[in-house]
Amino acid sequence: MTSILVVEDEARIATFVEKGLTASGYAPTVVGSGREALDYLATGSFDLVLLDVGLPGGMDGFAVLARMRAGGDATPVIMLTARTSLDDTIQGLDGGANDYVPKPFKFDELLARIRLRLRESGQISAGETVLRHGDLALDVRTRRVTVGETAVDLSAREFALAEQFLQHPDQVLSREQLLSRVWGFDFDPGSNVVDVYVRYLRGKIGADRIETVRGMGYRLV
Ligand code: CA
Repeated sequence: MTSILVVEDEARIATFVEKGLTASGYAPTVVGSGREALDYLATGSFDLVLLDVGLPGGMDGFAVLARMRAGGDATPVIMLTARTSLDDTIQGLDGGANDYVPKPFKFDELLARIRLRLRESGQISAGETVLRHGDLALDVRTRRVTVGETAVDLSAREFALAEQFLQHPDQVLSREQLLSRVWGFDFDPGSNVVDVYVRYLRGKIGADRIETVRGMGYRLV
């Protein structure tokens, strides 16, 4: 299983990322400071690091990254930060970061970056980019969707929703789970946007593929 070190001091975001990664089949370890991150990295058993820039304890994300690279640790690093200035991006990439995701981010965006970086570092083979269930197929790399032989045109949001269902076939996914994974943690939990997009998706891939489980959520069947 792919192990990911999440270095994030903000509990709400750390939990959101940890849950999302676990649900997506990764093994996350969460730490809240730069020192802890370096301690964990010394074990050398991580496939990727999600590294927040603003960390407590006098060692920020850039300092952690600098120590890693100076020590010869080439583990892929994706920097997370609330700061969106160009200077920070350049500093991060110059310092050896592999990618950079500004907060707030949507989980599917982060997941796409993670997949891309893991693929570059040889953790995912090209063949694993296609998710299938029955005759429904989703290529997360090319964004192509097919039902049988027929190509289906999905919007970015519909694609992200379909991806969630294909990652968890036959499982009931609650509105809250879908909302946090596809729309991000800042979305209003009272919104009916999930129901609206499930309807769009049914219209495109076939109404009987997504079952409504009353009072619980939706399931790909
Ligand atoms: Ca922070």
